[in-house]
Amino acid sequence: MTEAQSYGFDTLQIHAGSRPDPATGARQTPIYQTTAYVFRDADHAAALFNLQEVGYIYSRLTNPTVAVLQERIATLEAGVGAVCCSSGHAAQLMALFPLMAPGLNVVVSTRLYGGTVTQFSQTIKRFGWEAKFVDFDDLDAVKAAIDDNTRAVFCESIANPGGYITDLDAIAAIADAAGVPLIVDNTSATPYLCRPIEHGATLVVHSTTKYLTGTGTVTGGAVVDSGQFDWAASGKFPSLADPEPAYHGLKFAETFGPLAYTFHSIAVGLRDLGMTMNPQAAHYTLLGIETLSLRMERHVENAERIAAWLESHPAVEAVTYAGLKSSPYFKRVKTICPRGAGALFTVALKGGYDACIKLVDSLELFSHVANLGDARSLIIHSASTTHRQLTAEQQTAAGAAPNVVRLSIGIEDADDLIADLDQALAKAGAPGRKAGLHSRGLPTDAILNKPVDAGAS
Ligand SMILES: *Cc1c(COP(=O)(O)O)cnc(C)c1O
Repeated sequence: MTEAQSYGFDTLQIHAGSRPDPATGARQTPIYQTTAYVFRDADHAAALFNLQEVGYIYSRLTNPTVAVLQERIATLEAGVGAVCCSSGHAAQLMALFPLMAPGLNVVVSTRLYGGTVTQFSQTIKRFGWEAKFVDFDDLDAVKAAIDDNTRAVFCESIANPGGYITDLDAIAAIADAAGVPLIVDNTSATPYLCRPIEHGATLVVHSTTKYLTGTGTVTGGAVVDSGQFDWAASGKFPSLADPEPAYHGLKFAETFGPLAYTFHSIAVGLRDLGMTMNPQAAHYTLLGIETLSLRMERHVENAERIAAWLESHPAVEAVTYAGLKSSPYFKRVKTICPRGAGALFTVALKGGYDACIKLVDSLELFSHVANLGDARSLIIHSASTTHRQLTAEQQTAAGAAPNVVRLSIGIEDADDLIADLDQALAKAGAPGRKAGLHSRGLPTDAILNKPVDAGAS
């Protein structure tokens, strides 16, 4: 790590965690497409199973391709270790698993990815866990929500879908004072724009499905550990501090020190929950991360231009982008994500629900999909899709009211994106302000975003 710390982000995103393949010299990280690994002898096998030696046993727990990705993400996030999982939602469960037990709770922000709201408000109840939803801009409310049964505080750095920025330092101070870890979902920001551990987060979770992979190809997740939390201090975290019966009474915190959480996540979490990332997915994500900084710079540059253009459009009621001076979160950009406020924001249309639907259906370059953080520009009407399961109050609290669409600005030519929005807003009943896509002479047929037979049904 000392060597790694002296390199810049652009270097680490390409090199951290990888070496030329020891067997062949292959420069790119090979896809180790194998389930199991041959033991040197019976003693070696026993040592591995007892966690006395670190090595590969079975790909549900560890795989060399996935291991490179884990080390790369941990390095970029300034953590000591990371565990990759099959999706971002798997990462969230994996993050909570060592901390929680029936009857315990996690205090979470109301501003979260819609799927996370559902996972936390519905599904985790089946484990006997509870999520307490609080407005994280109200620090007193966050403090008040933490009780003796709270085992974590959870928020997003740049929150989906509005692009709102959480005051991580203030929230971390509250979690710290209460002796519980702060978990930050850094999916929308990526470590290029924000490093939550530097703002006091204990754990960072990712949906690597989004910007880290950046190409909309594979789902994945990661849990990064800062290595800075003392799991044995309070008696609140027995899984990490007390003897583990499945490993002959081994105490993770005592045995592995700062790596206790990471080792527990592999040796118990992946072993028993099985939410493993496969090496193919790790390969795509490693390729994506090699260009992360370049993509994020263009994402931010395009988002700043397009958000400003939309804000002055007569059909638009409001734009939530934190990179706009009008945003109440603008001042947090400098402290939390100084390289930019990301590329995810919502737009409220004066024409309401109907105008949103027309806009979504009229766009030619933006795709209407339930995804974000792709190189392509994406749009979704959250209220009728990702946030559909929520009540109207939850929708509005999450920034997904019926007259709102969420944009994930890609890295295409910003002029083309603006032209596309302009022609679609015109069709949605708003007067155009600029020449449309066709007048720029673009071969629109070649870039239609609809499936070939979309009009047939
Ligand atoms: C997509 C997303 C998730 C869930 O990740 P999956 O990979 O889809 O499971 C969680 N948090 C945020 C902020 C997301 O954007």
